[in-house]
Amino acid sequence: MPNDPAPNGRLAPGKLVVISGPSGVGKSTIVAQVLQRSGDRLRLSTSATTRPPRAGEQDGVEYHFLTDVEFSRRRSEGEFLECKEVFGRGHWYGTLWSEVRPSLEGGEWVILEIDVDGAEDVLKKFESPITIFICPESPEELEHRLRSRGTENEEAIHRRLSVARRELQLADRYEYQVVNDTVPRAVDEICSILQNKGLPYD
Ligand code: 5GP
Repeated sequence: MPNDPAPNGRLAPGKLVVISGPSGVGKSTIVAQVLQRSGDRLRLSTSATTRPPRAGEQDGVEYHFLTDVEFSRRRSEGEFLECKEVFGRGHWYGTLWSEVRPSLEGGEWVILEIDVDGAEDVLKKFESPITIFICPESPEELEHRLRSRGTENEEAIHRRLSVARRELQLADRYEYQVVNDTVPRAVDEICSILQNKGLPYD
C-alpha cells in the first residue's frame, strides 16, 4: 500500500483518512459505526482541544481536553500535525503527531475527523490521504440537527451555521462527498470507499 512520507523521512505503510463536514452533520456517529464495522487496522485519532467537555465527554476518549496554556506549549514544541482555532472564539483543536505517527508506522489506517482548514494542512504534509466530506441533505436539515442536539446556545449555533456555510462551499476539494441522508447508508458508502482503496479487513 501506498506510501506517504512519514515525518522521519521513511515511507509509512499505513494510510490517513481525512473526514470533514459541518458541525452537526453527524460525523461522529457515522465514524463510530465505520470503526465498528472495520477490522483492527482502522483507528480514530483522538484530537486535542481547549473547548470544555460536554456532558458525558471524557478526557482521552472524545478528546484530549487541554488548557490554553498546555495547548500552546505543545503547539510551540511541534507536537501537532495540524491545529486550528476552529470557531474563531478561542477554542483550539488539533491532531497530535503521537496519535498518528506510531499507527501509520505500524501499518494502521488512521481517521482524522477534522475541519476543512486542518484538512488543507494535512494535504500539504501527506501526498495521498483519502479525503471524505460528509454533507447534510440540505442546509435546513443541518440547522434542525444543531438545534435539536441542544448543546449550544443561540450565539454558538449561529457561529457554527456560518462556519458550516463556508465549509459546504469547500466540499468539492475532497475526493469523496457522502450525503448523510441516513446513517446506515452513509456508513455503507464510506466502508465501500475504504475497501475499494484497499483497507485490509481481519
Ligand atoms: P466539536 O466541538 O463539535 O466536537 O467539534 C467542532 C469541530 O472541530 C468539528 O467540525 C471537527 O471537525 C473539528 N475538529 C475536531 N478535532 C479537530 C482537529 O484535531 N483539528 C481540526 N483542524 N479540527 C478539528
